[in-house]
Amino acid sequence: GSTLGVLGGGQLGRMFAQAAQAMGYFTAVLDADAHSPAGLISHHHIRTAYDDAAGLARLAEISDAITTEFENVPAQALRQLAQRRPVAPAASAVAIAQDRAQEKAHFGRCGVPCAPYAVIETAEQLAAVDAALLPGILKTARLGYDGKGQARVKTPAELAAAWDAMGRVPCVLEQMLPLAHECSVIVARGADGQVVHLPAQRNLHRDGILAVTEVYPGNLPDGQVRQAVAAAISIANGLQYVGVLCVEFFVLQDGRLVVNEIAPRPHNSGHYSQNACDVSQFELQVRTLAGLPLTQPRQHSPAVMLNLLGDLWFTQGDAPQAPPWAAVLALPGTHLHLYGKTDPKRGRKMGHLNITAATPEAARTTALRAAELLGIAPF
Ligand code: ATP
Ligand code: MG
Ligand code: MG
Repeated sequence: GSTLGVLGGGQLGRMFAQAAQAMGYFTAVLDADAHSPAGLISHHHIRTAYDDAAGLARLAEISDAITTEFENVPAQALRQLAQRRPVAPAASAVAIAQDRAQEKAHFGRCGVPCAPYAVIETAEQLAAVDAALLPGILKTARLGYDGKGQARVKTPAELAAAWDAMGRVPCVLEQMLPLAHECSVIVARGADGQVVHLPAQRNLHRDGILAVTEVYPGNLPDGQVRQAVAAAISIANGLQYVGVLCVEFFVLQDGRLVVNEIAPRPHNSGHYSQNACDVSQFELQVRTLAGLPLTQPRQHSPAVMLNLLGDLWFTQGDAPQAPPWAAVLALPGTHLHLYGKTDPKRGRKMGHLNITAATPEAARTTALRAAELLGIAPF
């Protein structure tokens, strides 16, 4: 049989491996962590760092094609692998997604508006920042996720202090925008340029981390959904992208749609597709990587996804205690996904709960009941 390789052994790699295995592939994971969620379930687990040449050579040797689940994998690692095997997405696309300044320049090339911003790499650029960008959010250009590497700043003095606190690394300052909604679109693009997409997801973030995704008709304004899908496709086409790409958007209070950022892989906001769509985002990743046909996914059930953070293990005190799964699973249409992580920590993504139902109202009612059982605040 063929083997599909993945750089990174987190939950996204695990769910990719599960989808690949369901279709008969062997899987190979490269991740230094002996207990990585994907490594635990894969046929091959190479326990080296992402920049270890011997580990990468071994991954190339045993894999027929290779993808990534980790946004910050060194682009050089993808280049090295691509000399021997098909790699999707390509290093060039991942490199753009890894750097907020390059990412925003790409949005500009595609004609998709983003928040007004300035690149801050030098003290001169800091001093020259247009005060109209304040209040704003200073974000490190690289390596930020789940709201880490960000500071909200109101004045030039706060901006300067925040940049100092970040160690004066390259950053972008974005104007703080008045949001009505957040949404995202997942597109899959094949090597032949064919593009399909999942329906737009409505996302609720708490403390910079995705908390809840809701997907059903009427959930987002129609006009903005059409714009978001068109924008996501043009961003993918502009990158000559091969694989699964998530594009995050803001819908502003005045109705304008602006792009926030992209992730060069399946995304937390697409997890509902495992139970609510006839093709999941992970199967799309397998199909793009293996050169299999893409068909437009069809959502067959309204869906809500609740992220299960490590905090839920600590509602009874300091010793971790498993949440009441049996009570949650007694609710119809609940689908529990746990990532095999044995040490819950606050803010750590331990799993997610997908809720499907015949109607949006029923999905919401069940999701709110599950949230109450789990100690997740209502939404
Ligand atoms: P992810 O885990 O999705 O990669 P991240 O750390 O890259 O997150 P962003 O997506 O840039 O962070 O921002 C996190 C959240 O902060 C957004 O989803 C949004 O709620 C809020 N936010 C970010 N930028 C802005 C902005 N310019 N105006 C208003 N809110 C913003
Ligand atoms: Mg991000
Ligand atoms: Mg984000």
